[in-house]
Amino acid sequence: MQTHEIRRRFLDHFVKAAHTEVPSASLILDDPNLLFVNAGMVQFVPFFLGQQTPPYPRATSVQKCVRTLDIENVGITTRHNTFFQMAGNFSFGDYFKRDAIKHAWSLLTSGVDDGGYGFDPERIWVTVYLDDDEARDIWRDEVGVPESRIQRRGMADNYWSMGIPGPCGPCSEIYFDRGPEFGAEGGPEADEDRYIEIWNLVFMQNERGLGISKDNFEILGPLPKQNIDTGMGVERVAFLLQGVDNVYETDLVRPVIAKAEELSGRKYGADHDDDVRFRVIADHARTAAMLIADGVNPGNDGRGYVLRRLLRRIVRSAKLLGADKPSMREFITVVRDTMAPSYPVLDTDFGRIETVAVGEETAFLKTLTSGSKLFEGAAESVKASGKSTIGGEQAFALHDTYGFPIDLTLEMAAEAGLTVDEEGFRALMAEQRQRAKDDAQARKHAHADLTVYKELLDRGPTEFTGFHELVSEAHVLA
Ligand code: ATP
Ligand code: MG
Ligand code: MG
Ligand code: MG
Repeated sequence: MQTHEIRRRFLDHFVKAAHTEVPSASLILDDPNLLFVNAGMVQFVPFFLGQQTPPYPRATSVQKCVRTLDIENVGITTRHNTFFQMAGNFSFGDYFKRDAIKHAWSLLTSGVDDGGYGFDPERIWVTVYLDDDEARDIWRDEVGVPESRIQRRGMADNYWSMGIPGPCGPCSEIYFDRGPEFGAEGGPEADEDRYIEIWNLVFMQNERGLGISKDNFEILGPLPKQNIDTGMGVERVAFLLQGVDNVYETDLVRPVIAKAEELSGRKYGADHDDDVRFRVIADHARTAAMLIADGVNPGNDGRGYVLRRLLRRIVRSAKLLGADKPSMREFITVVRDTMAPSYPVLDTDFGRIETVAVGEETAFLKTLTSGSKLFEGAAESVKASGKSTIGGEQAFALHDTYGFPIDLTLEMAAEAGLTVDEEGFRALMAEQRQRAKDDAQARKHAHADLTVYKELLDRGPTEFTGFHELVSEAHVLA
């Protein structure tokens, strides 16, 4: 089943059950605390918090989501996109646990000819919160999921709150078992790559007070009105229904991989590191296009910085795959062709999206070219002196002067049969970070320099410090 069809069936299923279909909100909301919309419920928060009266008791949507937290997983796990579509159904003080569970079950397991997804009920596992016997009873006694396929999980996995005083409650998650060839028996608690999480049902039933952490707070008592918030991953369902190996090989993402094969001359499926690069290109090209469509421009901090990193990662991955010409325009064009049926803005605004993406590619390719020359010079002199290690100062100069990422230096060094004094490099990075912290003037100058990696240093840790460089474990922020 095609991804566009999976979306459509979700909305139809819930509209039939008296939900109002609400369009996706933009990825960018006017909220400085939220980098990107990362869940379907975000646009409904004022209703859940009781700050606004919802105009409908039930709603359904397919929300565009971007999760920067998952960037490191892209291409490596089977199931994490940076951009994905979260389909959801919401009840504002209307139906609760029983109906939420039954609606989800019927969509997942109804036959394809009856408007459902046709999942084999025998391969579905569910989780409930530790003490949520009510949900367990509904799953077991009313839906008929055997107790052996119901697992209880703790606060971290199966209890939801927004991290602030307000509504909170247990969740119940639905998983699909891909089968013994993908891991050992034991349910999602044991293996989340064999058992793929499809859908999270959140039962907002309590009010939480202040707490010491996201997973440790006081529950004050029941909410006057109970709410339902659910999120189903459209790409995950596509992955499972299309019989492919991961979310990057589905109908809307795989065509970018095919384009990258064509431009690079390499084959997907032949080499693990290359495969990661193919998947990164396909995932990031889509995310970048969607972000630009919603008004983000490459920049040196916040949202713009995320976009810049995504675009540069595409460029570098393509280069590492051996593509010798600019390829951004072609990747973005494939994204438009696959995604525009659900997101027409990709078509209507294509000129702008293309200009922004290609502009960043052009600038970064220049950086790579000048850095490569310097690298080759350094490598030659190391070899000429009979050594095999590129010094920390040289790696640092490449990074500092040319914005040349350390993992690219590592990769190129390995290709040349050399190693890099990473420890020395990191020591110099730490020194520079300290200097920059101490010196506000230095920070100003650094911002005038267009090397994004340098700016990141000068700004100190940001919320993206977990953003690893592709393939290599090394990353500039370590
Ligand atoms: P996971 O444990 O697999 O990282 P999650 O528990 O973080 O997923 P939720 O926050 O519960 O995910 O989001 C609801 C649903 O959205 C998930 O059940 C999944 O189907 C989907 N989803 C979450 N993150 C991603 C992602 N990075 N790419 C694709 N789909 C996702
Ligand atoms: Mg997650
Ligand atoms: Mg999860
Ligand atoms: Mg979840």
